[in-house]
Amino acid sequence: ADTVSIATLQDWIIRFGAAVAEKREWLTELDSAIGDADHGANMARGMSAVTEKLAASAPAAADDLLKTVGMTLVSSVGGASGPLYGTFFLRMGMTTGAVQDLDATGLAAALRAGLEGIVARGKPEAGDKTMFDAMSPAVDALDAAIAGGADLAEATQAAAVAAATGRDATLPLVARKGRASYLGERSAGHLDPGAASTTLLFETLAAAIAA
Ligand code: ADP
Ligand code: MG
Ligand code: MG
Repeated sequence: ADTVSIATLQDWIIRFGAAVAEKREWLTELDSAIGDADHGANMARGMSAVTEKLAASAPAAADDLLKTVGMTLVSSVGGASGPLYGTFFLRMGMTTGAVQDLDATGLAAALRAGLEGIVARGKPEAGDKTMFDAMSPAVDALDAAIAGGADLAEATQAAAVAAATGRDATLPLVARKGRASYLGERSAGHLDPGAASTTLLFETLAAAIAA
């Protein structure tokens, strides 16, 4: 398909919730190495609240859906990741407007706005060893694929691959933002937990669009 319906966006969110629940132990393990061992619990709690919220009320439009996701994450996740992912979805919703479908350009613009929201909130830069290091290459890859004529399935798959590559590239980095930065040089040699959950975000987007 060349558009993403609100049902597909909702399927993405549900799939992301299932993925963080399934990978909860792994995300927590990653955060126990360089943080406070709660990233799996934070994401699983937040996305389970989101899933319940969506089951209770069918959002009428894309902005409604994305803003509900964002507000629920901000209010249900205490850690750094709650406000960061919350801002991501809120900014996405502010960008789509009250539409039923997004075309490739509309989806890319919304994801870019979400990324910019994270930058405004957390001030991450490339190589700081954060979720930005998976998300920024993913959004760039999506733009490049669309500019090159790829369809939505191909473009989101390219974004997922770029996110995973960005996640893996956090391994040797010394963290410069968030709790992991307190460890200094000792943060090197571990994957960033937020980059790991962000990779799940783009993998589930590609899966929802391919479904
Ligand atoms: P907390 O660190 O409060 O326990 P989480 O463990 O849920 O929160 O999330 C940690 C993740 O948040 C990190 O792995 C990193 O990817 C991300 N993060 C932390 N601070 C920032 C920041 N300033 N900018 C971008 N991402 C950040
Ligand atoms: Mg943590
Ligand atoms: Mg914490």
